[in-house]
Amino acid sequence: MAGSMLYIHIPFCVKRCNYCDFFTSAEKRGSARIAAYMGALGIQLKRLFNHIDTSTIQSCYIGGGTPSFTGSHLTELAQFITDECKGVEEFTCEANPESFTFDLAEGLRKAGVTRISLGVQSLSEKELAYLGRAHNSSIALSAINLAKESGFRVSCDLMCGLKGQTAESWQASLQGIVDAGATHISCYPLTIEPNTPLGKLVASGLEDEPDEDFQADCMLMAQKFLKPYGFERYEVASYALTGQQCRHNLGYWSGISYYGLGAGASSMGTHEELKAFMSTVPCAIRNETEQALCPVSDYKKEYQETQAEEFLEQYNQAVRFRWRIQPDTAKFYESVQNSEPLELIVEAMSAKAAAAEDLMLGMRRVQGLSAAELEQAIKRGIDQTLLNKTIDDLEQDGYLMRTETKIIPTKKGWLEGNHVFGALWDLA
Ligand code: SF4
Repeated sequence: MAGSMLYIHIPFCVKRCNYCDFFTSAEKRGSARIAAYMGALGIQLKRLFNHIDTSTIQSCYIGGGTPSFTGSHLTELAQFITDECKGVEEFTCEANPESFTFDLAEGLRKAGVTRISLGVQSLSEKELAYLGRAHNSSIALSAINLAKESGFRVSCDLMCGLKGQTAESWQASLQGIVDAGATHISCYPLTIEPNTPLGKLVASGLEDEPDEDFQADCMLMAQKFLKPYGFERYEVASYALTGQQCRHNLGYWSGISYYGLGAGASSMGTHEELKAFMSTVPCAIRNETEQALCPVSDYKKEYQETQAEEFLEQYNQAVRFRWRIQPDTAKFYESVQNSEPLELIVEAMSAKAAAAEDLMLGMRRVQGLSAAELEQAIKRGIDQTLLNKTIDDLEQDGYLMRTETKIIPTKKGWLEGNHVFGALWDLA
């Protein structure tokens, strides 16, 4: 059986950052809501593990929000996953510097976590204040050191295009996290989201949009700066030392199925995987066009048995499904605990659409797409003539390069990836 992956969403943070539109909320440390949510996650996981072959789970990623903010609840959850899933080769937890304590590091290491992804974002105090982060640079550096000394593989996120950021401050942040011992670095351009404090300031003209040319320069600088330290870029935004690539993220870009648990979490998989997932929480399906096939108000327990079958029948040409648990934290834990229904928003994809999606995601990787992957896409329904024309056009316009055995994104294709992804998605 093919491998699969596990993603767990923890929607709590100590405070909301100025730019953030993730599904998360500010919460009181140690609150009853956190305890209830983490308890419900345990219940949902147990139900899932009763319905799948846990030995096929190859990687686990606990993200958020701020998983480290939940303290010992996180350690218990990680231990449970490690005990149940013996085939996990990489187990990542996201952490924020201010809540990554010595006790937590020790607990997570003992519980089988192998990798910590730290939300550092910058080592400049002014830039951190602009983002509204809860840590300062010395807390960030201590957290990297602690993760390193505790034996984790350490990934750090950095952001570019921040107010007041210069080439020097960008390079100082890169230098600081390299010196502290990061083995994996992700560099993201800041994007302004409308319903955030920063988005509102930009809309009212009180703050400027990030400078896209400067952001592109920062991406180029990062590549040049990190290379002598042994970091190779392997995806649009990700750099790693040899052997330190994130297996879980590579899985997302290679079409591996994943189960997403928790409020707002997304999953991707086959008919069978969707059916197994539906045993984890009572759910009423809403399809991607927002038509409720069974409204939550009409939901009956016995209906769930037939619901997946009816849905799959309606979409019998589909080979891949994406589904997302209703993004409502309280509803999630109340429903799981009381066996009441949640809405599951499901998208069905044809073989051709899934193939186009795999082409698009595959081109996020520096290695691009192999001849075998292109061949496979044609077998799954992508029109060969159209595919060749799309590749020719992208090559002529400088977005990709052909070699004997593969197509790979050029510098232009890397920095203007959305153009490449859009062209490949149009093949669906
Ligand atoms: S810590 Fe991360 S998830 Fe939480 S509010 Fe800040 S950016 Fe969002």
